[in-house]
Amino acid sequence: MNPEQLAVEGVRKLTPYQPGKPIAELEREMGIPNIVKLASNENPLGPSPKALEAIRSGLGTLRLYPDAGGFELKSALAGKLGVEPAQITLGNGSNDVLELAARAFLSVASSAIFSQHAFAVYPIVTQAVGASACVAKAHDGSGGPRHGHDLDAMLELINTRTRLIFIANPNNPTGTYLKRGDLAGFLRKVPEHALVVIDEAYFEYVSEPDYPNALEWLDDFPNLIVTRTFSKAYGLAGLRVGYAVSSLGIADLLNRVRQPFNVNSLGLAAAAAALSDDDYLQRTVALNSEGLVMLAEAMVKRGLAYVPSVGNFIAIDVGRSALPVYDALLREGVIVRPIANYGLPNHLRVTVGAVRENRVFLAALDRVLGL
Ligand SMILES: *Cc1c(COP(=O)(O)O)cnc(C)c1O
Repeated sequence: MNPEQLAVEGVRKLTPYQPGKPIAELEREMGIPNIVKLASNENPLGPSPKALEAIRSGLGTLRLYPDAGGFELKSALAGKLGVEPAQITLGNGSNDVLELAARAFLSVASSAIFSQHAFAVYPIVTQAVGASACVAKAHDGSGGPRHGHDLDAMLELINTRTRLIFIANPNNPTGTYLKRGDLAGFLRKVPEHALVVIDEAYFEYVSEPDYPNALEWLDDFPNLIVTRTFSKAYGLAGLRVGYAVSSLGIADLLNRVRQPFNVNSLGLAAAAAALSDDDYLQRTVALNSEGLVMLAEAMVKRGLAYVPSVGNFIAIDVGRSALPVYDALLREGVIVRPIANYGLPNHLRVTVGAVRENRVFLAALDRVLGL
C-alpha cells in the first residue's frame, strides 16, 4: 500500500514549509555554543515582562481547557483596535487564520492570487485544499520597489474563480511595503466575490507615513480580512497566537472551521498582557530601527546590495548562490535564512537582532565572504 496514492491531490504535490533552523538542532549537529539565530524574525528582546508574568499566573489553571471563545483577549484587542470582538478570529499563530481562510473560501473549483516572492504559507494553504494558485510577477524595479508586489499584475489575474487574494504588507521575505493610496485603489477595483487578505504580521514595526493601517478600510470593504500576530513585534512566537479582523459574516465563517481550542490558555493570557505593554513595544521598534540602519549601512560599506526593508529583517544579495554562504555561516554559529524557495537564490534573509547579534553576524559574514 502506497499512502501517496491515497492522499488528496493537493497534498500529494505539497512541499512542507521550511522553517528557520532551530538553535538546538545546530548545537546537536556542530557541537558549538553561543549560536546566534537571525532566521525567523523573532524579537531579540524576548517577551514583555507583563506577558511572562501572565504566563506564570496561568500555570495554575493548565488542567482546564482554554476559553474557546478567547473572551479576554478578544475584548482587549477590540478595545485597542476599535472593532467589535465578534469581528476577531483568534488563531494558533496567524498561520492558522490564513489556513482557516483557505478552508472556508477555497476549493478545487476556485483559485487564490498572490505575488512572486510572497510569504510561503500562501501557496501551501492554497494547494492543500486543491485550489489553483495564480502568481503575479513582482515589480522589476520600474513601476514600484523591486521585488515588491505589483498590484496591477495581481488585478489582471482576477477572474470569476478567484476567491482569495493574499497580500503581505510589508512582505516577508522582501521587506517591501505597499502605500496607502495604491492599496486603497486596488481594493476599490477588486470585485466582491474575491476576498482580500492583508497580512500585517509586521504592522507594529512600520513607521513610514504612507504605510496604511488596513483595519481602517474594514467598513468600506466587506471582502477584506486583516491578519496580525503576536509572534513578531510582541515576541511570543513560541506560544502561537495570531488573529484576523474582518466583517462579522466572514468571522462567523472562519469560526465554523476553527478548532474549538486552537489557542492555548497561556497564549491567550500572555497575548492580552503583552497588548498593554506600550513601553515594551516602543523599545522593540526602536531597537529594530537602529538595527535596520546598522545592517543597511554595513551592506553599503561592503558593496552588497539589499532590498530596502520596513520589517524586522533584511534580504541581502550576496552576489552569488546564497546556499553555500548560508552553510558557511552555520559553521560560524550564525543561522540566517536562504530564500531560494522564494525565488531569490542569491539572497539571504537576516533578522534584525540585538546590536551584539548583528555584530556577530557581520563579522561571520566578512570571514565567509573573505571581506
Ligand atoms: C511570520 C509571518 C506570519 C505569521 O506567523 P505566525 O507565527 O503564524 O503568526 C504571517 N505572515 C507573514 C508574512 C509572516 O512573516
